[in-house]
Amino acid sequence: MNPKQGVVVVGSGIIGISVGLALQQADFRVRIVDRGGPSQKASEGNAGAFALADIVPLATPGIMRAAPGWLLDPLGPLSIRPSYVFSIAPWLMKFWRASWSDRFPSLMKSQAELMSLSRSALDRQAQQYRGEPLLRRAGQLRLYDGRDTFRASSSYWHACKEYGITHDLLESSQEIEKIQPGLSTKFQYAGYTPDWLNVSDPRLWLKHLHDQFVDRGGLVECREVRSISAKSRVVEVHCVDKRLSCDYVVIAAGAWSKSLAQAIGDDIPLETERGYNTTFSPGHFDLKTHLTFADHGFVVSKVGSKVRVGGAVELGGLSAPPNFDRSKILLSKAKQFLPNMDMVDGEEWMGFRPSMPDSLPVIGNSPKQPRVIYAFGHGHLGLTQSAATAELVRDSILGKPWPIASAPFSPERFRH
Ligand SMILES: Cc1cc2nc3c(=O)[nH]c(=O)nc-3n(C[C@H](O)[C@H](O)[C@H](O)COP(=O)(O)OP(=O)(O)OC[C@H]3O[C@@H](n4cnc5c(N)ncnc54)[C@H](O)[C@@H]3O)c2cc1C
Repeated sequence: MNPKQGVVVVGSGIIGISVGLALQQADFRVRIVDRGGPSQKASEGNAGAFALADIVPLATPGIMRAAPGWLLDPLGPLSIRPSYVFSIAPWLMKFWRASWSDRFPSLMKSQAELMSLSRSALDRQAQQYRGEPLLRRAGQLRLYDGRDTFRASSSYWHACKEYGITHDLLESSQEIEKIQPGLSTKFQYAGYTPDWLNVSDPRLWLKHLHDQFVDRGGLVECREVRSISAKSRVVEVHCVDKRLSCDYVVIAAGAWSKSLAQAIGDDIPLETERGYNTTFSPGHFDLKTHLTFADHGFVVSKVGSKVRVGGAVELGGLSAPPNFDRSKILLSKAKQFLPNMDMVDGEEWMGFRPSMPDSLPVIGNSPKQPRVIYAFGHGHLGLTQSAATAELVRDSILGKPWPIASAPFSPERFRH
């Protein structure tokens, strides 16, 4: 009998852990390494949504006309640190290019295909690892400030219709109130997506999957990976304190994956969109569903019995300290929208979304080292797409054809 093949997965966020489980299930010997450290995982503090309706890429046609207004508005959803303007410029150019009408429809199609797979893969993952009790099936209410922005969102809802995402469009505060009492009556327009679901708490979901992986014999070690090299059929993972040899390596190091890919010789335009949230103790608001304030770029979600207000995009790289004024700005808006919610003594958090300019993750073999597989760049949707990503990584290693087109997710797609 052949010995099992060994895989090292770099990163124990939701992507790394999900990949570890899928490879373990496919009979690989899997070791996950993570350098640890406080606040290093976007996967622990996010809004907890399986945002299966979010098939529209961020780089929508016309976004570059709206962006300057957001940047000039101190309460706007987007900010760029002045010291980072030049560093982020090449990524922004690619982001703008992704919004052109010759690219946008095909990007949305690829996102919709990955979302459809994400839905079925999540069902398989939840069933196999007894995750259902940690899921909350309460839909999402996507709210608009008024008739103009609601009308402007018609292409979003057309796309949902085209790709079979169930939704109801609501045009009165009474209809909205039936789903979520306690909102400002200024909200008269919304879309409701009943099939949207959330984890009860992203930290507990990650821990649950981590524990399932360990219970089945998987290893999780605290090590920082510096670089990776490959000689014929052996891949070497160079950690700060040790060298690990294996048959395959999966890089799932979230927003920090770029430098590891660079060390292999792959230049991938990964950036981070820093996001902020504040979490309030139970009793502050009776949240019935996931709320998305579409015109303001933030959401309100239930986490355990707490309420989390979060979102925003700050382009500022990996090393600058958090600027929690971004959270306070979100709260000042949330206070107007949820007038009965008591927003005191919240716990603030900042996380690093790993983001590609075209809103699609990078999943697939490195062009330079085929035994290195990339699984990063999920941006706002890493939790949502984690189970599907794990199945695609497994298929890539097994040499099986994917159930969806692979080229849109290729690490090589920005080469030209
Ligand atoms: C405010 C906010 C809200 C969000 N809400 C949602 C949501 O509702 N739904 C959704 O689907 N997504 C959401 N996201 C996005 C989601 O959190 C991310 O896409 C996802 O967590 C990325 O997972 P990951 O495993 O790739 O990265 P991470 O969770 O960041 O994990 C990467 C890991 O790699 C490790 N690592 C890095 N470098 C090294 C190295 N050299 N050696 C060893 N280990 C290393 C790090 O320590 C870290 O633990 C949100 C993000 C933010 C910031």
